[in-house]
Amino acid sequence: MLVLVINCGSSSVKYHLIETEETAEGETLCKGMIERIGAVTSIVKHEPVGKRHIKDSKVISDHNEAMQEIMSYLLDEKNELVSDEVKIEAVGHRVVHGGEMFKDSVLIDNDVLEAIEEAFDLAPLHNPPNLKGIEAAKKHLPDLPHVAVFDTAFHQTLPRRAYLYGIPNRLYRRYKIRRYGFHGTSHYYVSRQYYKITDLPKEETRVISCHLGNGASVTAIDGGRSVDTSMGFTPLAGLVMGTRSGDIDPSILFYLVEKEELSLNSLHALLNRHSGLLGVSGYASDMRDLISEAHNGDRRCQQAIDLFCYRVKQYIGSYYAVLNGCDAILFTAGIGENSPLVRKKSLENLDGLGIELDDKKNESVTPGMVEKISSDNSRADVYIVPTNEELVIAIDTAKIARATRHSP
Ligand code: ADP
Repeated sequence: MLVLVINCGSSSVKYHLIETEETAEGETLCKGMIERIGAVTSIVKHEPVGKRHIKDSKVISDHNEAMQEIMSYLLDEKNELVSDEVKIEAVGHRVVHGGEMFKDSVLIDNDVLEAIEEAFDLAPLHNPPNLKGIEAAKKHLPDLPHVAVFDTAFHQTLPRRAYLYGIPNRLYRRYKIRRYGFHGTSHYYVSRQYYKITDLPKEETRVISCHLGNGASVTAIDGGRSVDTSMGFTPLAGLVMGTRSGDIDPSILFYLVEKEELSLNSLHALLNRHSGLLGVSGYASDMRDLISEAHNGDRRCQQAIDLFCYRVKQYIGSYYAVLNGCDAILFTAGIGENSPLVRKKSLENLDGLGIELDDKKNESVTPGMVEKISSDNSRADVYIVPTNEELVIAIDTAKIARATRHSP
């Protein structure tokens, strides 16, 4: 089934056109994105696999026009992607926050649209553009099934002790303040890839999955179910990230309000946009830039890398205890897949837990491949597993679209 996967941000729309039945893994036929929607000019990229890529600038004022641009490109016969014989049959939407309502992907109907809107308060930066994207796509493809796949769904199996905060319980009951966790689609995908290649029964397997990109999170997976995760009520919690602080003592906020008279908006910007690797290094949020400057002797860039890796190690240790052991640690996303240095530093001096990297394997990984990088003596295996969130969205969408077709 040919599925269009849509991922909308506040000023961007990313898309993937995926054939889900071509191979067991699915086949991406084309991807693209429109950035800087609403700016004087927007950037348009269409990247059909194995064909000429297009990069252009156009005036695109809202998500609806962005969808219009994507559909005109995909439906243009010259591009040989969609035709009368090979039609798009379903649309999958990434939705960041499903609150406590959604434990799985769902066919979008009016109730689902309402529920996504109800979660606006929980994810004010993400859910409103996600909804805009759904509305725009429904306008252009009104007769197709549209499916929502939630970043939070995989973590809905967290036990109460892992998702409650130590605050008055009425706040959970009234406002649903609790840990939700994010990157669920990625943690789900890499853990499934691990069970597949090792042929291990997921019911008996304990996995720690480290999604290390610009946003970063670690998840403890027991018997295939997420039992704890480092992001919380919002994606701000947990690891030190590109520009997000990760965990801090909440009293720092009261102290800053007093010392610098910061407004709520400034605090929000401070922790979300000016902290993390960028804040600590005072130089960059991008790990590649930091590694290269640290190599040239920049002490603050080195400190940022050290802090990032130390926090990953802390979570791995914590989840080792949560899971009462661990069969495999998985690294994924931009940093996890590509930085031998970060992987090495994050697993440094963990021989007490029996975790040992094979330095040579860690250094010589083929990009895009699943590879084992632990030594033969290591008690837990360490793997690199490239993530593919769009494929999970496409496969879930196809499954739900097929079931819808067959239901009376
Ligand atoms: P997101 O999807 O959250 O925006 P990505 O998963 O694309 O982020 O990861 C982006 C991060 O990956 C950046 O910090 C980038 O520097 C880092 N990265 C990519 N390639 C490498 C590499 N070869 N070495 C170190 N870091 C890398």
